[in-house]
Amino acid sequence: MKVFKFGGASVNSVERIKNIPLIINQFPGEQLMIIISAMGKTTNALEKVATAFYEGRKDDALLLFGQVKQQHLTTAKYVLVTHYLACAEQLSNFFTEVEWLLYDQPVREFDYYYDQIVCVGELLSTSIISAYLNETGIRNTWVDVRDVLRTDDNFRDAIVNQEQTLQHVKDIIIPQLHTTGIVLTQGFIGATDENESTTLGREGSDYTGAIFANMLDAESLTIWKDVEGVMNADPKHFLDAKVISELNYTEVIEMAYYGAQVIHPKTIKPLQNKLIPLYAKCFLDPSLPGTVIKKQVLKDLPPIIVLKEDQVLIQMKSKDFSFVEGEPLTTLYRLFQQLNIKPNLTQNGAITFLCVLDNRQDKIEKLALEASAIFEVQVIKGMQLLTIRHYNRDIFEKLVGSKKILLRQQTTATIQVLTTNP
Ligand code: ASP
Ligand code: MG
Repeated sequence: MKVFKFGGASVNSVERIKNIPLIINQFPGEQLMIIISAMGKTTNALEKVATAFYEGRKDDALLLFGQVKQQHLTTAKYVLVTHYLACAEQLSNFFTEVEWLLYDQPVREFDYYYDQIVCVGELLSTSIISAYLNETGIRNTWVDVRDVLRTDDNFRDAIVNQEQTLQHVKDIIIPQLHTTGIVLTQGFIGATDENESTTLGREGSDYTGAIFANMLDAESLTIWKDVEGVMNADPKHFLDAKVISELNYTEVIEMAYYGAQVIHPKTIKPLQNKLIPLYAKCFLDPSLPGTVIKKQVLKDLPPIIVLKEDQVLIQMKSKDFSFVEGEPLTTLYRLFQQLNIKPNLTQNGAITFLCVLDNRQDKIEKLALEASAIFEVQVIKGMQLLTIRHYNRDIFEKLVGSKKILLRQQTTATIQVLTTNP
């Protein structure tokens, strides 16, 4: 059996939804577990609903949610005929769930409400697509993944309970695969033991795909994307970016770690643990080879470029001249953990510590404030962090040129430089 994942871009219009059966029909008789994200920018729209609700702007929240509703009803109307009424009823149950909540006052933390509201994006998209596939003769079972994927209650970044989820996969998913052949469910969301909805972190649907591939011992996971495959740079910034046809787990986990927006960083581990190959394929043209990621030795990789804009350099200098080691360093890393900060680069000197972070105003303020008890803290914004794996002198010169380098780190495989924006 195979696991497929369709991202938001692959289901963001009526035409694209209609493209899905064309892909599935290329795998006749195959057992498929299909994971789907929210349509297009729905998650962003729902984030705005959650914020408005939490800030007490109830009317805004309802208005914004009304737009999400309308958009899904319209899509359902366009793609469905015989299955429209049943689907509209299913959609309206999800609408009601959210609206009940929106009429209340927030009494718990923001992240809890975020998850209760945002999770609906995936429930709506999958309801429509499942109905559409059934209508086109592709029999499938829609599953509410919240009955299967058990997590802790760390809302917005929930941790999957592997044991319970595996048990549910055995009890719910496998029998359905045997009866209907195709199970269709949501990426990115899950639920706690108390049936509270949770999410796994933005772009988390890839990770859901990998978890199911692992637990079902799938032959492969295919992520259907709007690009030709995994590229060596972001084609929006680098016109000569090209597809890399073969990669291995290590390379991809490193790329994701340095910020390449290829595949969610958590996706690789569940696949690597069972040596399940991952295909990144283009849903607009499935005949293109795409990228395969598996256990293999790679030779001659091109330079892989990751550019992170809007970076912040934080310089900390110990106030009383004690070395930045032991106690002060532990304090800093504890702060990172408390504030859920993952530095993109760190560098240690005798009495200084430098770190580079994404520009998250709230977190940076808190970090600077707390750290100022033991350090003199300086915050410098507007930086660019360039990472090149498999670098050579030519590519380095080409990309860095005469830019002013504030920080540089280098191993045999990777070079990173922090520069001011030109
Ligand atoms: N819909 C979620 C997001 O936009 C999850 C995903 O697409 O992977 O972040
Ligand atoms: Mg996505």
